[in-house]
Amino acid sequence: MTKPQSALNVYITVDTETWCGGWKNIDQKFPHAFANYIYGKTNQGNFGLPFQLKLLNDYGLKAVFFVEPLFSMRFGKSYLQEIVGMILEAKQSVELHLHPEWTDESKKVIFPHIKNKREHLKFFSFEEQKELISLGIELLSEAGCEQITAFRAGSFGANDDTLRAAQACGLAFDSSYNYCIPECEIKAFSDIHQPQVFERITEVPMTTFVDGMGKRRHAQLTACSFAELKSSLDQAYKHKWRSYVLLSHSFELMKLAQSQPDKVVIKRFEKFCAYLNAQQDKFNTCFFNERLITDQTDIKQPIGVNIVPTAKRYYEQLIRKAV
Ligand SMILES: [Zn+2]
Repeated sequence: MTKPQSALNVYITVDTETWCGGWKNIDQKFPHAFANYIYGKTNQGNFGLPFQLKLLNDYGLKAVFFVEPLFSMRFGKSYLQEIVGMILEAKQSVELHLHPEWTDESKKVIFPHIKNKREHLKFFSFEEQKELISLGIELLSEAGCEQITAFRAGSFGANDDTLRAAQACGLAFDSSYNYCIPECEIKAFSDIHQPQVFERITEVPMTTFVDGMGKRRHAQLTACSFAELKSSLDQAYKHKWRSYVLLSHSFELMKLAQSQPDKVVIKRFEKFCAYLNAQQDKFNTCFFNERLITDQTDIKQPIGVNIVPTAKRYYEQLIRKAV
């Protein structure tokens, strides 16, 4: 079906990564962590990556999986191949995500001069960032990705050098700009809402909105009610925005500490997918290397949602704790 040019391009982004809950005994903890963070293993079934891929495909939606590959320098490339294989088999898009906390955990030394743990990319020089991004692309390529075109820094901990380094590594898009996250130190832009070009790379910012209490909030699956997501989508369409970026994670449909499915968030994701599916004349899910439009530098105001969708979030967060 040909989508109308006026449709809002929706980028469903899923940061796909694994954590061991600290840095001690990580080799012992890793198998359990991989099962949790990637497969979403719970006492009631799996709600991670395979579940998300199936749901997206059931609703005929596209999503971009920002895959973190540095962990495989410690635990082996087969784990990364497993992740990439699942995403590509489901005909979804793999792009690069980096958490440099893994740098000093690698079995093969990456930076001999760096002994301490550096949490964010912005703590590395331009040359070091370039080396890490290049290594990430190489790891994803070895795992089966033919082409990587976009980048997102772990925890949005990027600076202007991150954009330059990604561009120097041949990437066309970055999606590390997040107005709501203090760790993000990209100064090239001042509160942008739509994709913009910086030097020779296109920044695709996280969508943020003003909630019913007057606070800015980014469009993350676990951080917003369905009503807020729906209302912000509708507002973006109404104001003729061309791009909307949703954030989620491979482990966001479960309660990690209790190894239980997060039924409220699962239902929220299903409703979000169903809404996009039902409104295909208005919303068009896509990958970064297609349909990106960068002619909206005149959009200076964030979108806003009213109090009712935000009140529903408070109610849903209470329910999440209770069930
Ligand atoms: Zn991440």
